[in-house]
Amino acid sequence: MKIAMIGTGYVGLVSGVCFSDFGHDVVCVDKDPKKIELLERGEVPIYEPGLDDLMAKNVAAGRLSFTGDLKTAVDGAEAVFIAVGTPTRRGDGHADLTYVMAAAAEIADALTGYAVIVTKSTVPVGTNRQVKKTVHKANPTAEFDVASNPEFLREGAAIDDFMRPDRVVVGVQNDRAAEVMNQIYRPLYLRDFPIMTTDLESAEMIKYAANAFLATKITFINEIAALCERTGADVKTVSQGMGLDGRIGNKFLHAGPGYGGSCFPKDTQALARMGQDHSMPMQLTETVIKVNDEIKRRMIDKVIDLCGGSVNGKVIAVLGVTFKPNTDDMRDSPSLTIVPALVGGGAKVRIVDPQGRREGEALLPGANWFEDVYKATQNADAVVILTEWNEFRALDLKRIVKRMTTPVMADLRNIYSQKDAKRAGFLAYTSVGREDYG
Ligand code: NAD
Repeated sequence: MKIAMIGTGYVGLVSGVCFSDFGHDVVCVDKDPKKIELLERGEVPIYEPGLDDLMAKNVAAGRLSFTGDLKTAVDGAEAVFIAVGTPTRRGDGHADLTYVMAAAAEIADALTGYAVIVTKSTVPVGTNRQVKKTVHKANPTAEFDVASNPEFLREGAAIDDFMRPDRVVVGVQNDRAAEVMNQIYRPLYLRDFPIMTTDLESAEMIKYAANAFLATKITFINEIAALCERTGADVKTVSQGMGLDGRIGNKFLHAGPGYGGSCFPKDTQALARMGQDHSMPMQLTETVIKVNDEIKRRMIDKVIDLCGGSVNGKVIAVLGVTFKPNTDDMRDSPSLTIVPALVGGGAKVRIVDPQGRREGEALLPGANWFEDVYKATQNADAVVILTEWNEFRALDLKRIVKRMTTPVMADLRNIYSQKDAKRAGFLAYTSVGREDYG
């Protein structure tokens, strides 16, 4: 099957590479010439574990190529995937559909025969019908169907998520489009991964409902964590006790500095907006957004308290700034709230992050970047763990304590314990939802 993939970001590139690995012929398009230049040279513009090898394998097999020219990619394609960004529209929280609709109009011009136009981007309910109208208006004789195929991959584990999904959701309007989608996902279907065929609207809604639910689960445990701090309970023990209940499950119950990333913040906002537009306010989601903002601000207060009431003039080593480990994605990371507040308070912030620098340097002005945790903590007044990268999980804490001026730690991912910190000689230790000392 010949597939065109419009957009080579985190979703488009991973999907394109994985479809080519299924055996399909895939041409990936991006309007950013720098990305295409890199991809044509065999370089991956983003950090995603395993993507470089899988991409090289499929390019070598002749099944995967890249172009800046949408027309060539769409020519003869049986399925054209739209995987462009849908960021928050400035001012009103709505998903900005400018890129989706622009892509739809371009595809309309380029169609040469029957094709299914598949929206992989996360889009509000009703968007696929709008795509259909846009294509029809731009090219009234075009023979096509639309399909909604929201993506559930997680950055950092994207290939495994794509190749071994919990489910694939496909929204269609007729059997012809369903058959094309079945052919595309046949390798997964043969391996018993559930492929769920729905109407367009339900497919679009499933994605927002799933993300808002997960954001709610994280925010719930973060709020419980705040109460644990006041009452002497330990949120790690509480999460474990809750998670063993099969109806609840143990995933997404790790207390931390608030959710961030390229999806949860914008998708909860878009769902809230959708609710307002339909006079059906999503009160729970609206509250989750508010509580998550408060949680991020509480983290700033924690660090200020740890530093004795002011960070002015303090040297603070921040470990991790990407929104989670194993990605270079900085979009809506809690670090974008916390680090500027520390810099603004007069702290000298030193950042260590295995992949965050390329994006993060411009987003976090006033901070200095270090390659090594031990160098960053030399003569530091505080160490703050913001992202739980593996390399931060087994640090030589005693060695860090010896280098610091005032050895205190804010472990905002709960990767160490009070006992670990005491044993290493930290004078004070704070984490999320557990007892502090110092
Ligand atoms: P991204 O910003 O990383 O990539 C989008 C790409 O599309 C960019 O490279 C851009 O240059 C390109 N583009 C935009 N308009 C184009 C056009 N007309 N022609 C060709 N290329 C064009 O975005 P992303 O993180 O991959 O997200 C894409 C969509 O997938 C969003 O709707 C997002 O909500 C959804 N999604 C993302 C994730 C994730 O983890 N990032 C997971 C699931 C779903």
